[in-house]
Amino acid sequence: ENPLLTAQRTPEDADAALRPKTLDEFVGQAAARENLRVFIAAAKARGEALDHVLFFGPPGLGKTTLAQIMAREMGVGFRATSGPVIAKSGDLAALLTNLEDGDVLFIDEIHRLAPAVEEVLYPAMEDRALDIMIGEGPSARSIRIDLPRFTLVGATTRQGLLTTPLRDRFGIPVRLNFYTVEELEQVVTRAAGLLGLPLAPDGAREVARRSRGTPRIAGRLLRRVRDFAHAAGHDVVDAGAADSALNRLEVDSLGLDAMDRRYLSMIADIYRGGPVGVETLAAGLSEPRDTIEEVIEPYLIQLGLVARTARGRCLNGLAWKHLGLTPPAGTQD
Ligand code: ADP
Repeated sequence: ENPLLTAQRTPEDADAALRPKTLDEFVGQAAARENLRVFIAAAKARGEALDHVLFFGPPGLGKTTLAQIMAREMGVGFRATSGPVIAKSGDLAALLTNLEDGDVLFIDEIHRLAPAVEEVLYPAMEDRALDIMIGEGPSARSIRIDLPRFTLVGATTRQGLLTTPLRDRFGIPVRLNFYTVEELEQVVTRAAGLLGLPLAPDGAREVARRSRGTPRIAGRLLRRVRDFAHAAGHDVVDAGAADSALNRLEVDSLGLDAMDRRYLSMIADIYRGGPVGVETLAAGLSEPRDTIEEVIEPYLIQLGLVARTARGRCLNGLAWKHLGLTPPAGTQD
């Protein structure tokens, strides 16, 4: 097995069991789902490979899952790798030349490809060809190798992290958004069924409400709630059982975790609500700037707790209220 192909993401192996396998099973992201359905049907009818697709959005929203579903619905093979794993352009060339006709090649964290590797992708995506340099110095020449038809599916947290030439080569850019509580209720109910967990409707709603808009988190919380319910001897997990388990996991009423609260408290306590720059926050929290911008902030901004301004991050009134603190005069709601 090629070590560049990350079969399943191993740390979240439990995820694999909960992955929807068809577009019909995939909950939420209605616009993205219906568009993909049309493009897949059209490509199949024409007997062509699907155009290259770029998924972007916060972690855990279903980018990998959708890529797998696309391959299954197209009836083609699926190979997965990730940007940081491909060290040399030769590694990518080897992957590409080993694809079979029509395959989906999924590259997670595609914004983290080395520039020299990324350049191999341009002719591969555009002309289905590989340009290889042979020899050195004055006798060096380039030969072109044809590649099988394939669909590149890239995933990234933000579209803007990609270089323009790479971004321009994706025919189908798809943004994934946070899920609504109703959508997550469906995700949680389905997952409970797969796990054989008796979950009352109000229990499903409680887990959904506190899952940060993210199916991966919903699945993870559900498994922990199951453990606590089991230990407490509950037959059915209702809202009360879910609530006490989630409190013990330090997931608060808005679904924020300890890191979210550290972030908010730092802006409140040390910077009086801001504005404060992201680099300063990264240093204070000992977290990489990327984690703050791509994992922590999107949901806090979506909830309206935090605003990104030209001068830095500011807490809104809601955040002060959530922390149980009085906002300074002039704070925005
Ligand atoms: P990403 O690639 O965006 O980080 P994944 O595709 O790995 O996210 O999804 C994480 C987990 O969340 C999956 O294993 C799956 O169990 C669950 N999941 C994601 N999207 C959905 C969905 N629409 N419906 C049900 N479960 C989902």
